[in-house]
Amino acid sequence: MFRQLRVKLTVLYGALFCVALLIIGATAYAVVASNTQRGVRDQLASAGAVFDRMSELRLQQLRAGAQRSADDLGFRQAVASRDGATIGAALSALKTSVGADAVFVVTAEGLMIGEDGAGNASVSPGLQVALGREAAPSGIIMHAGELHLAATTPIYAPNLVGWVIVGEEIDQPEMRGLERLSAIPLQASPLAHDSEGWGGGADRAALTAFVDQSLQSTQARPGLLDAPSGRAIALVKPLRSLDGTRSALLLRYPLSSALSPYRTLFNTLILIGLAGLGLIVFGTWLLAGDITKPLHTLEEAARRLTQGVYEPVVVRTKDELSRLAESFNAMTGAIREREQKITHLAYHDAETRLPNRLALERRLAATQPKRLFLAAIGIDRFAHIRGAIGYAHASGIIRRLGARLARLVPNAPMARLSSEALGVAFLADDEADARKRCLALIANLEQSISLDGQVVDVNISIGVAWPRAEKETPAEMIERASIALDQAHASRVNVALFDEAAYGDPARNLSLMGEMRKGLSNGDIFLAHQAKYNFRTNSIDSVEALVRWKHPTRGMIAPDLFVPMAEETGQVRALTEWVLTNAIAEQKKLAEAGFPLAVSINISGRLLADPDFMERALRAVKSTPHQLCFEITETAVIEDPKQALRNIEVLAANGVRVSIDDYGSGLSSLGYLKQLPAHELKIDKVFIQSLTNSQRDALLVRSTIDLAHGLGMKVTAEGVENPAAFSLLAAMGCDMAQGYLIARPAPLADLITLLNDDKRLEYYRKALRTAS
Ligand code: C2E
Ligand code: CA
Ligand code: CA
Repeated sequence: MFRQLRVKLTVLYGALFCVALLIIGATAYAVVASNTQRGVRDQLASAGAVFDRMSELRLQQLRAGAQRSADDLGFRQAVASRDGATIGAALSALKTSVGADAVFVVTAEGLMIGEDGAGNASVSPGLQVALGREAAPSGIIMHAGELHLAATTPIYAPNLVGWVIVGEEIDQPEMRGLERLSAIPLQASPLAHDSEGWGGGADRAALTAFVDQSLQSTQARPGLLDAPSGRAIALVKPLRSLDGTRSALLLRYPLSSALSPYRTLFNTLILIGLAGLGLIVFGTWLLAGDITKPLHTLEEAARRLTQGVYEPVVVRTKDELSRLAESFNAMTGAIREREQKITHLAYHDAETRLPNRLALERRLAATQPKRLFLAAIGIDRFAHIRGAIGYAHASGIIRRLGARLARLVPNAPMARLSSEALGVAFLADDEADARKRCLALIANLEQSISLDGQVVDVNISIGVAWPRAEKETPAEMIERASIALDQAHASRVNVALFDEAAYGDPARNLSLMGEMRKGLSNGDIFLAHQAKYNFRTNSIDSVEALVRWKHPTRGMIAPDLFVPMAEETGQVRALTEWVLTNAIAEQKKLAEAGFPLAVSINISGRLLADPDFMERALRAVKSTPHQLCFEITETAVIEDPKQALRNIEVLAANGVRVSIDDYGSGLSSLGYLKQLPAHELKIDKVFIQSLTNSQRDALLVRSTIDLAHGLGMKVTAEGVENPAAFSLLAAMGCDMAQGYLIARPAPLADLITLLNDDKRLEYYRKALRTAS
């Protein structure tokens, strides 16, 4: 409800003060009102008593006057003889002497004789009854429409001849007299009851209810009269009736005038209250401000803290708030310190304390001018060095190189990119300039490093990347520099600029692997067969099955691309099993077409240790009566060489010929030759292609053929492209030739066409005869 503590406190205290003020005011009013009412009630009661007393005195006077007339002999005779003139004169005299308002005689017959002496009207039945019952009754009568206080006296002459009635109007002057006699300004009024109730005017209904209720109780008590003309404390006194007229005296005292003496008091109280309320609100507002200002300061500081602004808070009080501020400042300090530590950890390499890759990314993102080059600086054969001198010293080398780098290119963004590479950004005019600068860097960095008194020499290679035309993130630039370093290592140069073409598109290649399985089942991947010519039999008696992939969108994909990828992504087993199954099937078709040829299949070296693959391969091998040959290339390190050897022996025992593929290139070596119990050696095409123009290669090929024969192996020459090489190989005693000269790899149908072409075979035979 309240969004500010200050407003809340102020409103709360103001409200509390108002409540207290109201309670005081109400109590004061209640006390004053009840005291006043009690006083008024007393006054009303005594005014009622005074009225009774006044009425009694007046009645005595009236009765005395009437008695004097009734005692007068002449008057008695006049009444007895109905002498109107005399009666009238006597009554007038009586009226004047007692100051009455109404005088008349009532005859024994009930006729009324007034001052005019005429005895025409008859008296009211009520009065007549009262006169008959009592000797000289007195009380209120209704005469000429007005209430009168009346006294009566019987007239005897000597018998009862009538009564003298003397009445005085209960008129306003008399009431005013009564009001004046009272200590308080009350209002007195006589009330007569008529057919519609008591009194008249607007107050009639309220009056009727009040009077009726008052008259019911035995003892008249002042009560609260709530009339339209105003609230008042009122007392009703019933008047004794003489002629049956119901009448009463109403004494009332308006409450407004009862409390008017206190109005000033209440007004003063209200004024004091308002002033007090103002003071309270003002004071609380000031005091709350003192409390909430430091709180605001703290709140603001906390808000800024979340935005990373560390500012101490100043609170100039000596209370809880200042202590809170002190704690807050301590907390801010601690957070800042911790954040600095975390930031340092996040952007530095814990081992060497050099900035890390993330830090470099940040700096590169902040400053990316044109002509900015990024060098990934690697230590050649770092794993070897680390193995020799230990991890601690190896990271010591990195640290030293980092320090050298910082001296050579001061303020340049630099970082440790990986366990064995540093990165540094620098400006250069063009790629040639960048290469020059890198060479200079290498010259400076390659100086010997002494660690604990031992001198270590390092060789440095650098891979360089530069921002490409399109938008590129620093992370991508760092990645390209790292790849360029790998490229430098691979091509054994000390500086390599990132070569996009050589790198290819790894993401696309990865997606290619996902499509390979589909290709295997939908026919995009198929087999081509390359014929091998046998010098001994002068015929084509074997083929090599080579896999082909005609990708629906990328066209022909070379096996040199996807076979190594399948090896690296663990899909080579599925591929090889597919090739084996299909090669066996096509071999069967070939045999059915009349050519029962041996079929060579390429087997990745690492599959040899795979028991699942071996199990299936064996099953497949046993299922066919035809000759199979497994060409084994040691493309990757075989994980379990002993197991691989055992498996090769099992294959051989089951009639499979084993061939060492690509002999002379890559990993294959003499040691390899010694271990593998192979039937055939395939000399790599690089030697065969230069056979006729390199004496050295010719010598190598010849001695390899002799070596293989010495070990009991047949020799196949790969990549035979021209008749000269073909003849030379024949002369060298090579067993088989494979190459474009004999046939290109072709689908089964084309192979069958070729095999049926006797002329072609005849051509080879002739070529051989001319050579020999
Ligand atoms: P490889 O086993 O050495 O196969 C011979 C390669 O030399 C084939 O290339 C063939 O087309 C090519 N060749 C044949 N004669 C000549 C010639 O006179 N001159 C030249 N320049 N090249 C010739 P291809 O088919 O592109 O295969 C490349 C490599 O892919 C193969 O080398 C083999 O290592 C691998 N590969 C092919 N098919 C399979 C397979 O089914 N399984 C496995 N694991 N690897 C395969
Ligand atoms: Ca091969
Ligand atoms: Ca080969």
